[in-house]
Amino acid sequence: MISFLNQALSDLKILKIGPRAIIKLAKIGIKKVSDLLFYFPLRYEDLSNVKKISELKIGELATTQGRIIKINSKKIPFRKKLTLIECFIEDETGAIKIVWFNQIHILKILRPEMIIRVAGKLLQKKSSGAFMINPIYEIVQNDKKFIHTGRLIPIYPFSHKISSKFIRSLIAKILTQLPKREDSLPREIIMSQKLLNFNQAIKEIHFPSSRILCNQAKRRFAFENIFLTQFVFLKKKLFWQNYPSKIINFDTIAIKNFVEKLSFQLTNAQKKVIWQILQDFKKNHPMNRLLQGDVGSGKTIVALICALEIIRNKGQVAFMAPTEILASQHYESAVKLLKDYRIKIGLLTSSQAKVYPSKLELQNTKNTTRDNSLTSLGVKMSKNFILKKIEKGEIDLIIGTHSLIQKKVKFKNLAFIIIDEQHRFGVEQRAAIIRKIQKEVEESFTKKPSPYLYPKIKEKMTEFIPHFLSMSATPIPRSLALMLYGDLDFSILDEMPPGRKKIITKIIESEQRKEIYKFIEQEIKNGRQAFVICPRIESPSETDANQELNNNNAKSQSKRYQTQSWLDVKNVSEEYKMIKKIFPRFKIAMLHGKIKSTEKEKIMNDFAQNKINILIATSVVEVGIDIPNATIMMIESAEKFGLAQLHQLRGRVGRGEHQSYFLIMLSEKKPSFNRLKILTECEDGFKLAEMDLKFRGPGEFLGKKQSGMPDIAMQNLSNFKLIETARQESLKILKTDPDLKNYPILKEKVKEFEEKLYKE
Ligand code: ADP
Ligand code: MG
Repeated sequence: MISFLNQALSDLKILKIGPRAIIKLAKIGIKKVSDLLFYFPLRYEDLSNVKKISELKIGELATTQGRIIKINSKKIPFRKKLTLIECFIEDETGAIKIVWFNQIHILKILRPEMIIRVAGKLLQKKSSGAFMINPIYEIVQNDKKFIHTGRLIPIYPFSHKISSKFIRSLIAKILTQLPKREDSLPREIIMSQKLLNFNQAIKEIHFPSSRILCNQAKRRFAFENIFLTQFVFLKKKLFWQNYPSKIINFDTIAIKNFVEKLSFQLTNAQKKVIWQILQDFKKNHPMNRLLQGDVGSGKTIVALICALEIIRNKGQVAFMAPTEILASQHYESAVKLLKDYRIKIGLLTSSQAKVYPSKLELQNTKNTTRDNSLTSLGVKMSKNFILKKIEKGEIDLIIGTHSLIQKKVKFKNLAFIIIDEQHRFGVEQRAAIIRKIQKEVEESFTKKPSPYLYPKIKEKMTEFIPHFLSMSATPIPRSLALMLYGDLDFSILDEMPPGRKKIITKIIESEQRKEIYKFIEQEIKNGRQAFVICPRIESPSETDANQELNNNNAKSQSKRYQTQSWLDVKNVSEEYKMIKKIFPRFKIAMLHGKIKSTEKEKIMNDFAQNKINILIATSVVEVGIDIPNATIMMIESAEKFGLAQLHQLRGRVGRGEHQSYFLIMLSEKKPSFNRLKILTECEDGFKLAEMDLKFRGPGEFLGKKQSGMPDIAMQNLSNFKLIETARQESLKILKTDPDLKNYPILKEKVKEFEEKLYKE
C-alpha cells in the first residue's frame, strides 16, 4: 500500500484541490503529500495578539473577532480596475470597518451574521475613521482551529501565484489526517539529541504553538537533513574502503634524501600532511583525501613527494590541473624536481603532448649527474604516441588537464590521482567532479571481472583502485567541508613557508585614486606588472539593471550587503577603456570568462612573459598561476567579493622577490568597510572563510545553485557542533547496522537522499 506521505495530492479527496491548482503546485515541485509537508515556511507572522475591537490600537498588528454587520462591494470613481469590498464587523465592545481591494471573491465567502476573525494593522484616516486594509481573515466555526489568525502564522515562499493562505489551508487539512507513524530518525537519537518527533515537529514547523517549539522543530529538521547527508557520505566512505588499492610501502631514507636536496626546508605542516598521505598509502584500501591549503602554502611539493613513492612502487600517477598553463607549470616544476630520479614524466593537454626525458636528455643524465642548463624540458610528440606510452606503462607521472580523464586515456597501473585546484574544475558543482571521476574509476574497475570468470576473480583482484588526492586553495570551514565533502578525509596546510614578504593591503579612499595611479605607473616603469580586478564583465543593459534593482529590493531586507545596485559596479570592458586612457603607453589586456579558453591561455602566457603591463580581469585569474613579477593587484568594487575570494586573489601577487600591494577600492563605502577591513589585518584563509560564513552565509561557498540543500539545513551550516554530532550519530548506526535492518524507515529515507545527492 502506498504510504500517506507518498500519496498524490490529486488523489486526496479531502483537499478538494481543483485541476488548475494541481498544475500550479506541480510547477513548484509539490505533487505528493510529503512535498507539501516539506514545503517549509519562509518566516512567520506573529498575529497572536488577539484583542477586542475597542482595544485595537492604531498602527498595531493584531487579530480581532466579530460578527459581520454589513458587507458589499463598491466602485471607486475614476479607478475602473479597482474593486473594493467594504465590511463592518462588531463585537460587544464596538465596531470597525474593513476594506479589501480587488478580492471580489470574498463576497462569495463572507455573508452578514457570520463571525470572522481578521488580522492586520489598524489604520486611521481623518475623513473616515479607523479601518483595516486587506487583513487576513477566517470564518469562526465551533470546533475549527485557527490557522490564519490569532497565532504565529506561517508565510510560504510566494511563487506562481500560489498564496500562503492556500498552502496553509492545504497543510492544515493534511495535518489533521497525518497517521501516527514511526519516526525516520532512530528513537535513540531522538532521545539523546532531545529532538521533537516527526509528527510533532511537522506540526510545529507549520503551525507553531510558540517560538520555542518552532525553533525546536527547525532544529529537528536541520538535524535530520545533516544526519542523512553525513550518513550517505560515511556510507560512501566505508564502501570505498572495500576496494583494494596498491599497498605502497614508502622508503623513509629515500624521502629524506629527496627532501634534503630541496632548496628549502619543508614546513611542519607539509611534513605532517606528507606523513598522513603516506600512512594512507600503506593501507590496502584507497585513500580519498582533500588537501586544503592557502595559496602558496606549498601543496605541489607535498603531492610530488607522495607521487614519487607511488612511482618507486611501480605505480602510475595522474596529476590534473584546471588549466593548460597550470599544467605546464606543474610539468616544468616536476621535471626540475625529479630529473635526477629517472622518472618518465608526460604532459598531456588539449594542445600539448610532451615527454621527459627525451633520449638525448636521458644520455645527459647518464653522463653528468646534474645538468642545470636544461631548457628544452622534454620532447614534443603526438598525442596518440603519448597515449600508447601511458597504456604501456612507459610514463610514470602524467600531468595534464581534463583530457587526462577522457575515456581514451588508458593507464597500465594507475595508482594515484592528484587533482589540483579541484574547486576550479566545476564552479557549479565543486564536489561533483571528483565524485564523477571516482565513479568512472569504480565502474571501469567493477566491470572487468565477468561473473563467468569467477575462479579467476582472485587473480583479477590484483588490480586496484587508485588513491585520490584533491587539492584546494579555497579553504572552507570544517562544518561546510563536512557537508560538501563528508566522504573524504581532510588534510590542512595551515602554515606558510617562512620568509614570504607580507603583501601590503590597503583600502583606498576615492580621493587617493590619482595617487594610486601614479604609484602604479611608477611600479610598471620599474618593470613590474599589475592586475585590475572587476566583478563584472560588461556594463549591464538597462533591463538587466532593472532586474538587478528588483532583485536587490526583494533581498534587501535579509541581506544588507546586497542592497547596492549593480549599476555602480565596475566592469572589465569599461575599466579597460579607462585604464587605456590613463596609461596610453602601457600594454593593457582584458581577461574574463567570455573569452575563449585558447585565447585566455595566450593572454595569461603573454602576461607571464611580461608582454602585458596591466591585466584587467574578472576573478578568473584566481587560478593558481605563478607570475612573480606582478606586484600590484587593484580590486574595483571590492564589496562584491567575499573575503575568502579576495584573499585568493591576493595570493596572485607577492610571489616573487618584490614588495607587493593589494589595493581595495569600494564603489559604496559604508556597509562593506568594516568587513573588508578584516583583510588588512588577517592573512589566514581559514579565518577569512569563517568570517565569510558569518557575514554572508553558506551561499558564498556553495555557489548560486547549490546542491539542493534545504534552507533549513543551510542556515545551520555554521553550526559546527550540530554537524559533528549528526556525523557521530550516523557513524554509530553505520557501524552497528550498516544495512539498516533495524531501521526500515530510515533506510527508505537514505535511499531517497542518495538518489538526490548522486543524481549527476
Ligand atoms: P600552492 O599551495 O599555492 O599550490 P605551491 O605549491 O605552488 O603553492 O608553492 C608555492 C611556492 O612555494 C613554490 O615556488 C614552492 O617551490 C615554494 N615552496 C613550497 N614549500 C616551501 C617551503 N617549505 N619553503 C619555501 N618555499 C616553499
Ligand atoms: Mg597550487
